[in-house]
Amino acid sequence: MRRPEYYNEKVVRLALIMAREKVKQCLEGRDVSSICSVVRELYDSVPRVSWLERGLARYALRTVHQVSQGVWRVDGIPALGDKHASYFVTFRDGRYECTCFSHTYGYSRRARICTHIAAVMLARRQVKITEYRPEGGGSEG
Ligand SMILES: [Zn+2]
Repeated sequence: MRRPEYYNEKVVRLALIMAREKVKQCLEGRDVSSICSVVRELYDSVPRVSWLERGLARYALRTVHQVSQGVWRVDGIPALGDKHASYFVTFRDGRYECTCFSHTYGYSRRARICTHIAAVMLARRQVKITEYRPEGGGSEG
């Protein structure tokens, strides 16, 4: 089986550079695309630029896969230091948990929230946006 592109370090580095630029544009208000409204919303909850950048890179590399209601598989990216091939993020009662043992209680506490969760938060909100604006949806199945 062909290894996915996020196993390629060059691809991951490029995705991080693009995510960094995107987050910067979003937070400076220079970009009004739907993903930017999502980025700004997340920044209001978790004001950590590097967390957003890594989460966005994971999301852009298409490592987030919904498994069932409230459960996502996030493929590990070796170049980002992931030791496992995949992580599972669950969202229940307003709380995220990841199998890398990171968690958040509605992000009111300043708990450490991993970037797997950031990627899922982006994916969830982006799905919501494309539901309202179907023309913004891609050809993804
Ligand atoms: Zn995690």
